[in-house]
Amino acid sequence: MFRLPMVARMMRQLFSKPATNPFPARHLPRSVTEFLQLVAEGKAHMVAPVGTPQGFKGKIEYEAADCTGCSLCARVCPANAIEVHKELKCITVYAGHCIQCGQCTEVCGKSSLVMGNEFLTATRDRYAPDMIIEGDAVLCELAGICQDDEPTEAVAVK
Ligand code: SF4
Ligand code: SF4
Repeated sequence: MFRLPMVARMMRQLFSKPATNPFPARHLPRSVTEFLQLVAEGKAHMVAPVGTPQGFKGKIEYEAADCTGCSLCARVCPANAIEVHKELKCITVYAGHCIQCGQCTEVCGKSSLVMGNEFLTATRDRYAPDMIIEGDAVLCELAGICQDDEPTEAVAVK
């Protein structure tokens, strides 16, 4: 049996724009990885994502300038995603391990950690350079500690 409200709604849907975002491409690419590679090479265009809402828990951002190396963030991290370089007063966050719970951002008294808006974190290599977050930790770079290819166990200092 036809129901008039349902028919009216169907007709409205026929002539309205899609509610979904065609991100990352207008038509589903055969391989998203290949598509992103083409975007990086400037051979394809990515449809812009929708904006993220306030309080969105995206990829962690780290500002090393005020970090004291207190290791509180590492202590509360349930994913063992933070390595502390206590002697250098800085940390390394492994985004490939992070579950974006936000606990580290809440305990950091120096506001050195915040949840960013980046959500494109899918990767085949969880230790790829863009998955290792060290901010502008000049001290770490000078010492080479944050440049290790393979991290040891996630949390070094507890
Ligand atoms: S990021 Fe914050 S909580 Fe973590 S070691 Fe630095 S100061 Fe401490
Ligand atoms: S957001 Fe959660 S899982 Fe990610 S580094 Fe912080 S405490 Fe660890």
